[in-house]
Amino acid sequence: MDTKPKITARVVAVQDDLVTIESITTENGSHPLTKNEVIYILPSRLADDGRQEYLKAEVLRISGNRADAQVYESTSGVGVGDSVVQTDELLSVELGPGLLGTVYDGLQNPLNELSNQYGTFLPRGVDLSALDHSRKWLFNPSVKAGDIVRAGDELGWVAESRFNHLIMAPFDLLGPWKISWIQKGSFTVEENVLEIVPVSDEVNSVQAPRLIGLKQRWPIRIPIGKSLIQRSQAERGYPTHPLVTTIRLIDTFFPIAKGGTACIPGPFGAGKTVLQGLISRYSDVDIVIVVACGERAGEVVETIREFPNLQDPKTGGTLMERTIIICNTSSMPVAAREASIYTGITLGEYYQSMGLDVLLIADSTSRWAQAMRETSGRLEEIPGEEAFPAYLDSSIKSVYERAGILTTMNTEKSRSGSLTMIGTVSPAGGNFEEPVTQSTLSTVKTFLGLSSDRAYRRFYPAIDPLISWSRYVPQLKDWYVNNMGEDWLPRINKLKQILTKGEDVRSMMQVAGEEGITVDDFILHQRAEFIDRIFLQQDAFDSVDVSVPLERQNALLNLIDEICVYDLKCSDKTEIREWFTELTNIVKNLNYSKMNDVGYKNYISKIKEMMK
Ligand code: ADP
Ligand code: MG
Repeated sequence: MDTKPKITARVVAVQDDLVTIESITTENGSHPLTKNEVIYILPSRLADDGRQEYLKAEVLRISGNRADAQVYESTSGVGVGDSVVQTDELLSVELGPGLLGTVYDGLQNPLNELSNQYGTFLPRGVDLSALDHSRKWLFNPSVKAGDIVRAGDELGWVAESRFNHLIMAPFDLLGPWKISWIQKGSFTVEENVLEIVPVSDEVNSVQAPRLIGLKQRWPIRIPIGKSLIQRSQAERGYPTHPLVTTIRLIDTFFPIAKGGTACIPGPFGAGKTVLQGLISRYSDVDIVIVVACGERAGEVVETIREFPNLQDPKTGGTLMERTIIICNTSSMPVAAREASIYTGITLGEYYQSMGLDVLLIADSTSRWAQAMRETSGRLEEIPGEEAFPAYLDSSIKSVYERAGILTTMNTEKSRSGSLTMIGTVSPAGGNFEEPVTQSTLSTVKTFLGLSSDRAYRRFYPAIDPLISWSRYVPQLKDWYVNNMGEDWLPRINKLKQILTKGEDVRSMMQVAGEEGITVDDFILHQRAEFIDRIFLQQDAFDSVDVSVPLERQNALLNLIDEICVYDLKCSDKTEIREWFTELTNIVKNLNYSKMNDVGYKNYISKIKEMMK
């Protein structure tokens, strides 16, 4: 903030974190108000330490020379007549090297830096720069003076973690630009490394030269991909590969496409947070972005503590080196929580535009929707179902629409990156009929429904195979047939049938008892239980079973096939049960053994023996 800020409006009303401002009119007219513009409120009452506070806010609604703005801080002490500074900029994030490994709040304030400078209790009105301004990065140019570039083109790269972090031409460039000079060397994100001048044509005839550094800013509510597509610099791809999570129930039964969307609804305690942790740790992606819209503060703190200590199964380093955490707890202002999801997505799109595979996990989107509801309530908008705003559904859709595959064009080196989005939903009482779950279900293409019944029985992951679905199966089929065998789909459908029928028999037995059902039905039920225990369930606390490559999932499926066609030649239910119990124990131990080591082979021969 410069020393003499230009005051262009004043506060005329305050209601919680919503303020109404009015433009100041002078003989030169008044400064225009723009929707989603960032403004700062300067309370006339100074902070206890004598500081002039700058409270960040975003304009939500304009009517005439007045506007309603949501303030991203507590508004206590803000009063009518307080000064307002406009930035003429939409709510934006900084994009550049140094994002990885950082924990941010919803407005991209780095939390470690905040607590280093201000301790545990954050003062109000502190705006920190998102990227480290003193760190130097070795910039390696990929273009030279005289070259022509357009929006999103690679200009050079710096090494960040184990990635080549591409420095790209600003995503909002219009038309062709020529590099007038470029320098190699070590620079901070504050320094300029090259200059571009417009190649004069209709679009650029009036534009001035632009200096470019290692970072750029981007408004969080506008998709980067959309901007590149509009400029014919990129196109959307069609997801054809799965996001391999190494979780059997997901990969084999309900796959998520790379560049696709999924939701994990479940009641409190059903295992949403644990599951999203497993997915972010083991999925085959480059970058993970976690948007923690905390249920409780403690939970978010757990995520932040856990990640830096988790080993990255891909690199042996820590998981945090390729992770960014956006963290909001329920104790932070609601408005910041609403923004946090867009902040996370924009960071994800940035790495996607470099050609990397990015996974964004939002836990939980219910808290985000509630923030939207609170703001809408204060704006006195006409409420929809359960007091959520009428635009809840379109907001949810516009969030998940930002997932996808983006392929850049027009350069020799085309890049293709993916952004996969998974959101958890925590409906009160586990009632999936409520609006947030329903809207999300009509948007995403994979539904992993957690059941409290399965969680109660400690069947983890508690994804209910009878209610979950994946609409990606048709588009991923070719990939699966190539990698899992010709009969992948019929085989999975057969297993689902056994599970469904097994469940029917289970309900029947609850009424009629074991004596009330036929031997064939009993065997069917035992088979279903067996598949559940050794395939669907997966032990997150066992170092081998926690993460199972597809090849091994396939080997286990082959074994299940053999067992399911094996004729037991026995009609005594007790004997049948004992046979399945023994088999279950052996296969469980098999699952705990490293593939193809001595123990593994022993268990395989024991199983073969049981089927002689
Ligand atoms: P939610 O986020 O849905 O409220 P959590 O993910 O916090 O639920 O899970 C609640 C508890 O359930 C965990 O603390 C853990 O004890 C248990 N749990 C959840 N998932 C698993 C799992 N895959 N393996 C073992 N225990 C689990
Ligand atoms: Mg949780």
